[in-house]
Amino acid sequence: MSHRTDSYASHLRGPLVAAASLLLVLGACGDAGREAAELAPGMSADVLAEDVEKFSPTTLSFDASLLDARQKKLVRKLVEASDKMDAIFLKQVWAGNPAMAERLASVDGSASQSFFKIMYGPWNRLEDNHPFLDVGPKPPGAGYYPADITKEEFETWIADHPEDAEAFTSGYTVIRREGDGLVAIPYSVEYRAELTEAGALMREAAELADNPSLKLFLEQRADALLSDEYFESEVAWMRLEDNLVDPTMGPYEVYEDELMGTKTAFESFITLRDPVESDRLASLEAYLPDLERALPIPDEYKYLDRTFTSPISVVTEIYTAGDTRSGVQTIAFNLPNDEKVREEEGSKKVMLRNVIDAKFEKILRPIAQTVMAAEQANRLTVDPYFTRVLMHELAHGLGPDYVTGQEGVTVRSQLQERYSALEEAKADVVGTHSLAVLAEQGVYTPEFLEEVYIDHVADMFRCVRFGVGEAHGKGCLLQFNYLWENGAIVYDAEHEVFSASLEKMPEGIAGLANQLLLIQATGDYEGAGALMEKYGQIQPEMAEALKRLAVVPVDIKPEYAVKDMMESW
Ligand code: ZN
Repeated sequence: MSHRTDSYASHLRGPLVAAASLLLVLGACGDAGREAAELAPGMSADVLAEDVEKFSPTTLSFDASLLDARQKKLVRKLVEASDKMDAIFLKQVWAGNPAMAERLASVDGSASQSFFKIMYGPWNRLEDNHPFLDVGPKPPGAGYYPADITKEEFETWIADHPEDAEAFTSGYTVIRREGDGLVAIPYSVEYRAELTEAGALMREAAELADNPSLKLFLEQRADALLSDEYFESEVAWMRLEDNLVDPTMGPYEVYEDELMGTKTAFESFITLRDPVESDRLASLEAYLPDLERALPIPDEYKYLDRTFTSPISVVTEIYTAGDTRSGVQTIAFNLPNDEKVREEEGSKKVMLRNVIDAKFEKILRPIAQTVMAAEQANRLTVDPYFTRVLMHELAHGLGPDYVTGQEGVTVRSQLQERYSALEEAKADVVGTHSLAVLAEQGVYTPEFLEEVYIDHVADMFRCVRFGVGEAHGKGCLLQFNYLWENGAIVYDAEHEVFSASLEKMPEGIAGLANQLLLIQATGDYEGAGALMEKYGQIQPEMAEALKRLAVVPVDIKPEYAVKDMMESW
């Protein structure tokens, strides 16, 4: 399953809006003052400036002394190749983006320009892609399809031209109009100029690499960019080992394609691997069978003979580009998405340690200090948060994938549009439940577990702020209301703060895990709807608390120390 934590993109949206023709208001700036483009109706420069401020500028630094002279040159090449992928992603979001970016650049420092850079386009990713510049709605097919195409037209074309099905549904083609018809154009053709440059830079990087597994990945990836054949290089990425410089580069996630959900977006993570932390967490893998056994449901619903292949990498992010850099920043990811590679090689979880640290300090701690009882807020430390993020990732791999007793029927297919929010809530509560099981086995101390519970409550506020139209946000609201109703969260009306009931949290978490897992095991679409309905409303006390959180940033805006450093490399 494709998965990325802390990205708004991973959500099911409402009915797709038929794309209106997109009018770019060209010409003079006129009365727009310092803005180089017309703001969307109802949008003001002040509101836009506030939206920009929701993203707190944060420098992502790292210990450059870990790199020798050759590795520094290698990193520089990879950063330069990443920028080529960044340019491709901008086009993938919207064909009009490069021209718009140029226009906005004519008035440097405007709020429009700043927000455009954060969002990679004129639509607000925090508000379901509501436009902030006067360009109309975002085409559901982004820049991958003709702006005016509908899902129906696309599907009818494939039904009438079955020989086109493979190329049209490929993750590595764009769809264009040609005459009266449609054609599929491979990425290697559509983005040839950028991909040729990116590939050349990756080959130069490969020559600088003394780690054979890294060299192989970079060479095969460079080839893939121009052949659209990614399988071999995905396998090479899974087999990276003992490498310090740890890149993840290419077309990966399909979130940007809201028309069909198949086209992949270019992105890049240039990171340094932390071997000690990675090995420490990898030891958790050994406990996964125990954790499956400890799920709070009857044994008949468990996968007791499941095998787990899930390498974990802890890294320091030094640069990102493309899809992942737009909107909300990724804190962990699980790749590749290609099912064939996953069957043969498994998948790898990558934890972006310095991004997690930054979000903890800039967002989670101030949230806790604002809405939680002081004695609990003061106990928060980053380690329980980091460990919960990791367990959330691992917990996606626990519990039912298939409806019990129905061969081959996936939970996802039964729960449909209710699946994502329910699965995110499951990963949260099963993650925390699993940490309780590990604490019982002595892997964590009781104090650590208490901090996990406090952190869990604070984090639900962070996540509800993503908006409850989005899977993570909806899943957090459900948890919060359930735990509150069951006494695991306590509200202090006098001080208007919440706290975790350290006594009742274990039971509350297990109770909710039980309900969510049983809904999944039985593919209970109605039950999922009833649970989400029952616990899907923001209560007045929470609404009040959320209002007070308006001053806390929603996310970070990364600035990369490597950009300055590498000038002398
Ligand atoms: Zn998740």
